[in-house]
Amino acid sequence: MKHYLLKSVTPCPECNGNGIVAHPAWREYWQWNDHYRSANYGRQPSEDVVRFWWVENGFEHLSRHDLPPAEIDCYTCHGTGKIEEDIDLKSALTDLGINITYSNLQP
Ligand SMILES: [Zn+2]
Repeated sequence: MKHYLLKSVTPCPECNGNGIVAHPAWREYWQWNDHYRSANYGRQPSEDVVRFWWVENGFEHLSRHDLPPAEIDCYTCHGTGKIEEDIDLKSALTDLGINITYSNLQP
């Protein structure tokens, strides 16, 4: 029996179809920064405190050039912004609200 496959393409839920996400270290940094400002009447942490945070989080030789990039290719879609899956014809038609039954095949 012949089997038909289609390709479904949906926007990546991780990056909302942009193909890029924030670097995990920067995500953690901004969470920490928000928390720091909440606990310090909205004041930004000093440069030394910021440097200490990065060193404490594994970036030992810290200069601006050693910081990780702010954004990286999405690890879920590998930067394409799309999730592609093979699906069978019946599943595709069901997704589209078309229900195939034996009576559809009657002349
Ligand atoms: Zn993605």
